Amino acid sequence: MKMLEEKLKIDKIPKGTVIDHIDAGYALTILNLTGLDESKNLMTIGVNVSSKKYQTKDIIKIENVFLDETQMQQISILSPNATISLIENYKVIEKKKVKMPKTIKKLILCVNQTCISNSGEPISTEFTVLEEKPLKIQCVYCERIYKLEEIVFTSKEKKGKKVKQRIQL
Ligand SMILES: [Zn+2]
Repeated sequence: MKMLEEKLKIDKIPKGTVIDHIDAGYALTILNLTGLDESKNLMTIGVNVSSKKYQTKDIIKIENVFLDETQMQQISILSPNATISLIENYKVIEKKKVKMPKTIKKLILCVNQTCISNSGEPISTEFTVLEEKPLKIQCVYCERIYKLEEIVFTSKEKKGKKVKQRIQL
């Protein structure tokens, strides 16, 4: 039984990306936010997989896809413990931890209507990360503070589509 479990968990892909140690319950939000949900490539998604380190975690494996910097940042905001492994010929050629930037630019909207970032001026949003976990960020313009469940993400590919994240943390 143990062997079978292990095999299911680490079912290998020939080439692509494995996003591991995603906070349990966030895999679908990450797929949605990064736009990976629109990929035609083969994907395996594990939700609430048992994990030695974090009890439960989510995991995403996607063939033939490598993440860009924006997608990595989006993942870091939702799951600061996530690791990204790049796979070639069934082997991990690179493994890295996502790194949350000190300031988050453009990826998040400030919902404060009087904030200058909503004034119609060509000003991109910018937030300072006050705390990573639990996440606390502050708009550099109006100084409003947001927790993870209050964040509204921007998305280039899906303008107007608001990403719903898991409310219960
Ligand atoms: Zn603001």
